[in-house]
Amino acid sequence: MKAAVFHRRGGPEALVYEDVADPEPGPDEVLVRVRACGVNHMDIYVREGSHGMKAPLPHIGGLESVGEVAATGSAVADWEIGARVLVLSFTADGTCESCRSGRDNLCAARQIIGVNRDGGFAEYVAVPGSALLRIPDHIPFVDAAALQGSFGTAWHMLVDRARLQPGETVLVLAAGSGVGSAAVQLARHLGCTVIATAGSEEKRTLALALGAQHVLPTAGHFDREVLRLTGGRGADVVAEHIGPDTWTKSVASLRIGGRLVTCGGSSGRMAATDLWSVFWKELTVLGSMGVTRADMVHVLGLVGDGAVSPVIDRTFPLSATREAQVYLAERRAFGKVVIVPEE
Ligand SMILES: [Zn+2]
Repeated sequence: MKAAVFHRRGGPEALVYEDVADPEPGPDEVLVRVRACGVNHMDIYVREGSHGMKAPLPHIGGLESVGEVAATGSAVADWEIGARVLVLSFTADGTCESCRSGRDNLCAARQIIGVNRDGGFAEYVAVPGSALLRIPDHIPFVDAAALQGSFGTAWHMLVDRARLQPGETVLVLAAGSGVGSAAVQLARHLGCTVIATAGSEEKRTLALALGAQHVLPTAGHFDREVLRLTGGRGADVVAEHIGPDTWTKSVASLRIGGRLVTCGGSSGRMAATDLWSVFWKELTVLGSMGVTRADMVHVLGLVGDGAVSPVIDRTFPLSATREAQVYLAERRAFGKVVIVPEE
């Protein structure tokens, strides 16, 4: 099959499009013919070996694949050939302490598909049958491939972790990103007031069109603006995924008793926190790691009902996975970038 592979860690040039052996599904695995795969910042970190990401080599990235069941292992009984499926970006054993409490995203035996094992930047991917979810027939593959890293992540952040309530004010950072564009829509759907940030005038216009009531420059003093827009009170919830470049301002944007939830750090790992603000205002900092299976069931229902829809910036063919990663890294996209294998 064709795949986008890297044999060494490095820049975009390390990624090559080439023929590799078709994956062989194990007894409890399913072979999925990939029809689309979302591109994630994690794919870039894995290729670079940055942010502590060390994938086995050679490696095929791709955390957000969807497609059709092409073959099943001998122990797989619940998936039929041709079923339209979304591949969860992680494997879970279903038995550890995390899994038993519904936090399968934190499974002790977790493997991240596309990080710890080969992912979906290929014509086929072999994954455990337990990592699959059925996609409603009327959701196109490209839309489905855009859901996990956008609405899935946003749902886990805002609903599961931050317990966002109707009427609250939420600050969404980088509304032009996949997760940001979804968080804006989801928060509006939940009946919240949304203040967003975006990195360019064009993205600010698009964020308003998605439903944000106010959109501020990400690079500016958005904390001061949030306080002004809320009459000095601050936001109930801040949805963070940028990290060092925005963290201090995100903390300063919160109201007394506010919650900051973070699902990523695209600008780095280390940031300074004003501890006096944390105890003085009794702030809560919440981590949010990817999605759970339950989150994705909610999201597929929400998108299937037409309540919200993913924002797709553009698609690239599988042979141009390298260009797609460069495009994402340069922050030119508004919404998700999706890879589609050639017919
Ligand atoms: Zn587990």
